[in-house]
Order: sequence, then C-alpha cells, then structure tokens
Amino acid sequence: MSEAHTYRIWPKDPAAHLFEVRVTVAEPDPDGQVFAMPAWIPGSYMIRDYAKHVVSVRAEADGRDVAIEKLDKNRWRAAKASRALTLVLEIFAHDNSVRGAHLDNSHAYFNGTCVFPAVVGQEERACNVDIVAPEVSFGKRTRVATSMRRGSAEDYDFGGYTAEDYAELIDHPVEIGSLSIGEFDVQGIPHAIAIRGNTRVDMARLCHDMQGVCEQQMSLLGAPLDLDRYLFLLHAPGSGYGGLEHRWSSSLVCGRDNLPARGDEGVSDEYRTFLGLVSHEYFHLWNVKRMKPAAFTPYDLSQEVHTGLLWVYEGITSYYDDLALVRSGTITEESYLELLGQIMTRVIRGSGRRRQSVQESSFDAWTKFYKQDANATNAIVSYYAKGALVALCLDLKLRSETGGRVSLDDVMKDAWARWGETGEGMPEDGFEQLCIDVSGEDLGDFFNATVRGTGELPLESLLHGHGVEYCLRRSSGRKDKGGKPSPDNKLPTVWLGATLKTRGGKPIFSALMNGGPAERAGVSPGDELVALDGLRIDIAGCEARTRRYRPGDKSELTVFRGDELISLRMNWSEAPEDTCYLLLTDDADDSVKSRRGDWLGQ
Ligand SMILES: [Zn+2]
Repeated sequence: MSEAHTYRIWPKDPAAHLFEVRVTVAEPDPDGQVFAMPAWIPGSYMIRDYAKHVVSVRAEADGRDVAIEKLDKNRWRAAKASRALTLVLEIFAHDNSVRGAHLDNSHAYFNGTCVFPAVVGQEERACNVDIVAPEVSFGKRTRVATSMRRGSAEDYDFGGYTAEDYAELIDHPVEIGSLSIGEFDVQGIPHAIAIRGNTRVDMARLCHDMQGVCEQQMSLLGAPLDLDRYLFLLHAPGSGYGGLEHRWSSSLVCGRDNLPARGDEGVSDEYRTFLGLVSHEYFHLWNVKRMKPAAFTPYDLSQEVHTGLLWVYEGITSYYDDLALVRSGTITEESYLELLGQIMTRVIRGSGRRRQSVQESSFDAWTKFYKQDANATNAIVSYYAKGALVALCLDLKLRSETGGRVSLDDVMKDAWARWGETGEGMPEDGFEQLCIDVSGEDLGDFFNATVRGTGELPLESLLHGHGVEYCLRRSSGRKDKGGKPSPDNKLPTVWLGATLKTRGGKPIFSALMNGGPAERAGVSPGDELVALDGLRIDIAGCEARTRRYRPGDKSELTVFRGDELISLRMNWSEAPEDTCYLLLTDDADDSVKSRRGDWLGQ
C-alpha cells in the first residue's frame, strides 16, 4: 500500500487571520512534485482561485530548504527530492461564507479547497489530517466539528483525522470554536448540528424538526451505503442566508433569530426558510454529491466545467426541499402553496425567462448566474427557481398522464439506482431519457418546451388537475413576494418597470425591465432618483405616489447620472400581473383531491 499524505493545519496567527498548513509527501514525484490549489469549490460554480489567499509557500526535505517554482496562478513545483517532502504554506482566511475559510480570535472555519493543496498525480492516496489547536484560546469548551472520519482525535476534539483521498479531504468543512451541539438519529444513522453564534435556540425543538425533515428525505431514496454519519455546520450571525452541500455534511448560514427560542410555537416564515435550507442541502446528499453529471465525475477543479444539467441538481433539489416540509407535516398545504407561489412570482418577474432556457442557464452558470449584472433580470433565468417549477410540472404531468402510476419520485428512485448507487456520471441526455424510460410517455415536446425552450410553463392546467388554482395579480410593492392574495384591495395600476435600492442613503435604480416605463424614458442602471414631477422622493415615497397615476399619464423624472442632473419624460404604463398565488380548490371532486393528497403526501 502506498503511504498516505499528511496534512497538518494550525490556526497559527488568529489575529492576522493566518493558517499554517504543512503537507508532507512520503514519495514525491522524482521529476519534481507539483502542488495545486483548487480554482473552485464543488457546489458553487464560480472560479475563485483559492491560491490567491496563499501568503507564503516554501518546501523542505530532511530539514533543508527545497527550491520551489510557481507554474501558474494555482500551481507550484518543488525541486527534485528523493525523500519525504514537506510543503509549508501560510494562508489568509477572512471569508465568512460557506465557500471560504475564516479565522479570528474567536473561531476557525475552513473548507479544504481553501487550505489544502492537492499532491498532483497522487490525489488517490489516503490523507492523514492533523488539526492542531491554536496557541490562543477560542474560549472555554472549544470544540472541533467536522464530518471527517476521526483517527486519533476524540469526539469533537483536535488531533488526527483521515480521508480516503484528496476528493474526500476537501469535502469535509471544519468548524472550531465554542459551539452548541445537538444530536439526533435518522433511520439509525447519527446526525448532529453544530452551531456557531449566540442563538439561545430551543435545541430540542430544532433537532426534532430537522429530524422530521431528514426522515422524509431519507424515505424517498433510502440511506446511501456509505452514509454512517451526517453533520450540519450552522453559522448564525445577526443576518445572512446560504448553504453548501457536502457528502457527509453541509454548511449553513441563517440569521440567529430565525431559529426557534424556548417556548416558541408554530413555524414562522423565517424558520420555514431555515428548514427549507436544511431540507435542500440534505437532499443534495443524494442529488449531486453521490448522483452527479458525468462532467463532474471526477471534478476538474482547475477550470470551469460545463453541464446543462444543473437544473436537475439544483432545480429538482429546490422542488423537493419545500415538498419535504409539507410531506413531513412540518408545514401545512396552504403554507407550501405560498412557497410555490413565491417561486413562481420570482420566475415570472424576470423577462430573462424568455431569453434563456434552464439548460442554457445551467451551462453558463459560471459567467451569468454567478456573475449577474444590471441586465440579469432581462437576460437570464435561475436554474434553481425555474428548475424547481420544471420539476413540479414534470411531476404533475407524469402523475396525470400515467393515471398516478408514475411520479417524479419514481424517476428519482430509478436515477438513484442507475447513477447514485453505481457512482457513474449522468450523461447530458440521461435524465430526459430516464423520464421517458420510466414513464413510457413521449416527453420530447415537454423537454423541448420547458428545459430547452423559453415559453411559459403549463402550470395552470397541471395544478388545476391536482386541485390547486393558479392565480395572478399585480404587485403591491417591493416587499410583496407573492404567494398570497393581495394584502390590500387597492393595488397600484401602473408601474415604473424598475427596481430601486438604497445606496449610501440614496434611491438608486438597480435594474430596469426591458420595455418598462423607466427604461423607455431613458433611465440607466445606477441613476439616482431625485424627484418625481418636481417633488423630492425616496423609495417608499415613490411607491406611495405611484398609486396616484394611471396608465397613459405622463411624468417628469429627475435623476443624477454621476454628477449630472438629468430630466426625463416618462409615460406610465399598466402594471403587469406578475405576482402569483395558489389556492386549494375546495370544490374539487374526490379523484382530484386524492391526486393532490398523493402529491403532497397528505
Ligand atoms: Zn443547492
């Protein structure tokens, strides 16, 4: 057996946010060992070039310095060494996101992609990992939380850990600090949540609710054979939202007050969002961490990797995340329909859905979805949001056309058997072909229209067949996310066709809808709104005054573009019905109601 690599990580200077990492290679490449830092992290499809945070790098063998040369932005080569070679790096860590590494006097968090270079050519070798305690204390009861398999380390402690190979090494984020830990089982498999942040959460309630959601997800595809533990790492600052999936864990961020306090009852909108995030990242344990596109098998972390299937991995996951909340009884049917209505509203409000398909959105994720400019609303569609709606349509269509014999659940079970349990990559046309195979239905037109096309989704008819009415109305204002009937009965009849954001205390046009009144008047992204018809105005004031105009009315808009004051003539136009909500059909007949019950698991 070839000798394992050793990775030693030490929070060397927390005040300066510096980790020291030492990588020891027992049998370095005789032509000079190459080391490479990943350019991106799986699950977040953007080039991040983690090597840019490497502050210093040197190599040594037998206590003597070994020359090292930089080959390109992410790689180094050490001079020939005939015995164990150690690369020593200092790495700056001040990115508090789930994709980064962060170190200060209170805690350390890292993803392996940010701190561990690959030993090029020997990525298959096992890794021994030594997580070393800082010299300063992170506070009493400092604990180490990671899904990495323990070697000599005690539970939640510093010391020795192991990974089977480099791919696994970088798939276990690590959190070190004063953590609150809750534990629960799902189908006999130990699960834990480790929370950073002073949340004063009702941990028993949190574990109970998360267990219900995880059980529901687990009941769909079953426990993967190699899943013998699972860990949620949660950072709960004042505000924030995000998550990143891993094979045995996930990293989450949510606002600390979104979590339930002792004595709280019911599921607040914020807590529902958090449970949806838990559900989403957990579903990824199957969908993308084990079952993945052929393009990701294995991941090439040196450059962009393109696939048109991200809508399958993120869209279908976004569909099952909230669905698991209603199927598990965590939220009501009405609450679930509110969430669906909000997703529909997000998609409808962007005219980019008419320009970009979810397949194209998946393919161009690296440069479009992850690098959105002021025109994003007109040019791109989210493979998450529209992908979730394609999944919904596919599910309801399969249920309708096969008389309830086949659903998306069955497709996912077959997909799991074919690509999840085998570890084989899903070819680009694999998912569509599988849907056809499993259902026996001709789905070519459906995929042409919804996945490769940019037409409207057949939501209204499919939902109607499942006892749900699809309704549209105008928006009541910027805080109106949809999902509910109108909060007031006097909706504005006109719109600006623009999004305003406050920047530096000033109202700034951040996005202009193609064809909307503001764009037609000549407003540009970045313009500062100064006055409407000669009256100084802020965002709230603008929203209130909009209600005083009717389609066809004319106004003078005054804006600053840079330091130039500009006066523009604008024609108000009718506000579109771009806000969606769904209602249960009370008078649906029993067969329709039973179809709805099958779908929502009631
Ligand atoms: Zn996701």
